[in-house]
Amino acid sequence: MNITGMKFCERCRKKEADVVLSTVRFCEPCFIEYFERQVQRAIDGEKLGAEMFSRDSRILMAVSGGKDSMTLWNVLNDLGYETCGLHIDLNIDEYSEVSRRVVENFAASKSLDLIVVDLRKEYGKSLMELAMRDACSACGLVKRYLMNKVAYEKGFSVLATGHTLDDECVTLLGNLTRWNLEFLQRQYPILESTHPKLVRKVKPLFRISDEETAAYARIKRLEFVREKCPLASGATSLSYKKVLNELEQRHPSLKKAFYLGFLKNKSLFGKEENFELKTCESCGMPTANVGLCAFCKLLERPKRRHDEKSKVKPLSI
Ligand code: SF4
Ligand code: ZN
Repeated sequence: MNITGMKFCERCRKKEADVVLSTVRFCEPCFIEYFERQVQRAIDGEKLGAEMFSRDSRILMAVSGGKDSMTLWNVLNDLGYETCGLHIDLNIDEYSEVSRRVVENFAASKSLDLIVVDLRKEYGKSLMELAMRDACSACGLVKRYLMNKVAYEKGFSVLATGHTLDDECVTLLGNLTRWNLEFLQRQYPILESTHPKLVRKVKPLFRISDEETAAYARIKRLEFVREKCPLASGATSLSYKKVLNELEQRHPSLKKAFYLGFLKNKSLFGKEENFELKTCESCGMPTANVGLCAFCKLLERPKRRHDEKSKVKPLSI
């Protein structure tokens, strides 16, 4: 701060700090430089043992229309990476219409390639028709399956998602509180392919907090979906996020220390077991199950229930 009370950027110490984060103050140009540097460090695989992708990689960018995925798509484009967007239209009424419009507008404004998978058009059912009870777990399954399927079938070498430091901290806290060793062993910003039809997945925003993506989206004037999904339940992840935010307020940089410390000490949780993936009898994609994969089972479910009902024999008295 100078004698006029104006607060300066902590990086260049010349311009007024108009990006005030919980840990540091930046002017806008310094913040964008810092932000892009953090993403580049992640892509280059600093302390990860491997780079996420190179300038020659065919990158499929999963975009929901939310703040984080739109931010990542924009920053990858600004850093000079060639990407193709993938949007999955879940047909959740107006929410999906707005999300799709945001993604399509962005792709058109930057002349970027975009693939849209419309769940109802391609598979005959909306997410609501597919999910019987927990919409979010069905949604996760559908998105994971379709993202990998499109990436594999269209020959992409890597699939990038907009998971942030906050998302990774929530997952880590969830895995730790349940001592889910299998998931702890697998949690990492790079998920290598373990099957010829499983595409490598990367999370280039793992060093970036939600607070930082919000500041980036504001400065870059990015359009993104602000409405909450009407099917959102997420009680557990929301409460974990709230606890982590409260801790971060009292202890700045705690989230970074929590997640980056985990990456450093990951070997304490043991090595991930290499279990062999099988092939789905219906779609031919990789699965942990024998027979149908979870996605094909989900598509089959109402029909199977009906078939099962019709198979019930009358009780003989
Ligand atoms: Fe899918 Fe749940 Fe997110 Fe809605 S809130 S988009 S149903 S994961
Ligand atoms: Zn299948």
